[in-house]
Amino acid sequence: MDHEQEPNKNNHYPSLFEPIKIHDHVIANRSIMGSMHTGLEEKWDGYKRLSQYFKERAEGGAGLIVTGGIAPNFAGRVSPFGSQLSFPWQVAKHRRVTDAVHEVGGKIAMQILHTGRYAYHPLSVAPSAIKAPITPFKPKALSERGIRKTIGDFANCAKLAKRAGYDGVEIMGSEGYLINQFIVTKTNKRTDRWGGSFENRCRLALEIIKAVRASTDSNFIIIFRLSMLDLVDKGSSWDEVIQLAKQVEQVGTSIINTGIGWHEARIPTIVTSVPRANFTWVTKKLKPHVSIPLITTNRINTPEVAEKVLAEGHADMVSMARPFLADPLFMNKAKHNQADFINTCIACNQACLDHAFKNKTVSCLVNPRACEETIINFVPTTSKKKVAIVGAGPAGLACAVHSAERGHLVTLFDAAGKIGGQLNVANQVPGKEEFFETIRYFEKMLAKHNVDIRLNTLVGAGDLGADLFDEVVIATGIKPRQLTIEGVEHQKVLSYLDVLKHKKAVGKSVAIIGAGGIGFDVAEYLTHDKSLAVDQVAWNKEWGVDVDYQERGGLQKATVSDSPREVYLLQRTAGKVGAGLGKTSGWTHRLSLKHKKVQMMNDIEYIKIDDGGLHIRHQQVEKCLDVESVVVCAGQLPENTLFQQLSESRSNLHLIGGADLAKELDAKRAIRQGTLLAIKL
Ligand code: FAD
Ligand code: NAP
Ligand code: SF4
Repeated sequence: MDHEQEPNKNNHYPSLFEPIKIHDHVIANRSIMGSMHTGLEEKWDGYKRLSQYFKERAEGGAGLIVTGGIAPNFAGRVSPFGSQLSFPWQVAKHRRVTDAVHEVGGKIAMQILHTGRYAYHPLSVAPSAIKAPITPFKPKALSERGIRKTIGDFANCAKLAKRAGYDGVEIMGSEGYLINQFIVTKTNKRTDRWGGSFENRCRLALEIIKAVRASTDSNFIIIFRLSMLDLVDKGSSWDEVIQLAKQVEQVGTSIINTGIGWHEARIPTIVTSVPRANFTWVTKKLKPHVSIPLITTNRINTPEVAEKVLAEGHADMVSMARPFLADPLFMNKAKHNQADFINTCIACNQACLDHAFKNKTVSCLVNPRACEETIINFVPTTSKKKVAIVGAGPAGLACAVHSAERGHLVTLFDAAGKIGGQLNVANQVPGKEEFFETIRYFEKMLAKHNVDIRLNTLVGAGDLGADLFDEVVIATGIKPRQLTIEGVEHQKVLSYLDVLKHKKAVGKSVAIIGAGGIGFDVAEYLTHDKSLAVDQVAWNKEWGVDVDYQERGGLQKATVSDSPREVYLLQRTAGKVGAGLGKTSGWTHRLSLKHKKVQMMNDIEYIKIDDGGLHIRHQQVEKCLDVESVVVCAGQLPENTLFQQLSESRSNLHLIGGADLAKELDAKRAIRQGTLLAIKL
């Protein structure tokens, strides 16, 4: 194994664009498109769509692609209908993918994932019969024979992957899946040769790697994803991580990838509030102990960050998964000094992981084409039209960019002095700064496609005559819901826009009416020091990540800085506060506010607001919350006045985003709706 010494001509990101040789495979740069399950794997036409999806990422410059996890046997499936590769008849569909990637000069490895006790079905197996906190099924402890068979199944799966044309496999040994479950005493209580001593607990990992190597050949890339930081109690110690890595190298692994945190860990590892590249230090710490290439990962979403991580010697390669969903051309744009045109992943999880966990096909909030490459395409128009778009929020922006991209003459109006709509409010929330990137991306794309932008222009019905525009798109967004509670006009009452946008002073004690996404964001804003999101040291202390790795699992006691305010977060409904938040990110919001001692209360009836505070009825008991400020975050209504004024007099009138439907509106729906309309215009 040697690193190719060819001169690298990229001046912008020299480390990122340094080719690397793994066995006889020359990988054009240091990027890995990390494994992501898309949901297409289980669809009837899924592999046709997957082949186009992967092809575009390979064409766009991804160095080495890793597929979503494929189980080596039934027990290892994610769910009863999860994908598996165990039989020769299953090879052909994979061949479609590998051919498509190789056709454009790419490299692709298949991830072999055995979920162990994380399986979402009743036939799950594990080292010991201990239920995971995140699944309802108690696994069966594997017998000696079962373990032997599992090793054989991994080898068989790898053999079939090779036959399907994959350049290698990634063996999933982290994130709390089967192999990881064997490694730590938390989940491995066995007393036979697969449990007890550290040597015994690592045996499964090493036997699998050996068997995979034996069933393939010496040129086959074997990546082992090693849990370098479990972030759970009784996880591996740092010495054990080093020991395992050395042995993994010895038994024939080509590359070690970094795994951060088990799925059941209560420390966020990839959501947007995690500082960029927050965990690469752990890969760097391992570097002196092994000689095979190391991949680092988590919250690396720009070429600048990737370059810095590599240049500072944290790893040999960087894995970026979601950034390739957001922009398949990520690497080529970086290569050609067009990083400003990258559609940056904002780490929201809203259309990728949240979809995956709800059994929906994965997509991307900023790129609705992701996983729909064969369905959504921006075909040049044959009849060029003059299109007016009113509102430069995400719905209007997406519609403007793609309409102009198709060849229409687009004029985009906004009453505000800048584009972005509510994204300019969202990006004021600590930990949501990535929304600045979305606005930057749209700015660049509007310029690229020559959209005529008219800011500070409040559009009225008279400005959109049929003589001026062939098509009119109303994307005027929302207006905050006004409440009718007695005393709502009291000076202590503020709207979320007063707080986040107009920066009005807020008292030391606050009641927030409404615990939806915006209520949570306002609570975050009022209880957090804004610098925390970008201050890695403070962030790690607050969440209890032990960067000195003194304790098992890399955990330490969290040191939470005090909130500058006492905050109540209220809702009328009886269910869990924050139940409507994102499936994979909601818990971090709830936990973060809990750290700050925010009092979350449900089943509230609002009575009145006066000098004494906010009077409520809570579980039939009347009380007064003695607060200095009350912030209203009670949802939104469509701002569709302009549409109503025009709807009788104009044809070719379209309504998108919040102006169309404010209920459960988010940027994902707004961008998708704007994009889909642009295809039709
Ligand atoms: P808007 O973004 O509201 O844009 C409408 C635009 O129309 C405005 O710029 C307005 O100035 C303009 N306009 C209105 N009338 C006229 C007129 N007559 N003439 C000219 N211009 C006009 N969504 C998520 O998906 N994830 C999040 O994490 C998230 N966080 C959020 C946090 C906060 C604090 C807020 C406030 C919102 C958040 N959202 C989030 C919601 C998301 O921002 C909205 O769903 C999205 O912006 C709606 O897009 P839109 O284009 O329909 O409308
Ligand atoms: P929301 O999620 O619909 O929440 C509105 C809140 O107001 C609810 O808690 C509701 O709860 C309360 N409410 C509704 N009517 C009320 C009334 N008449 N009086 C008092 N309380 C009332 O809306 P939002 O928080 O304004 O967010 C708007 C959109 O932005 C959301 O759809 C969301 O998807 C998006 N967003 C997303 C994120 C994210 O992180 N993904 C973050 C922010 C915003 P009760 O009815 O129980 O009182
Ligand atoms: Fe990134 Fe959000 Fe897109 Fe997922 S949905 S890839 S987190 S921008």
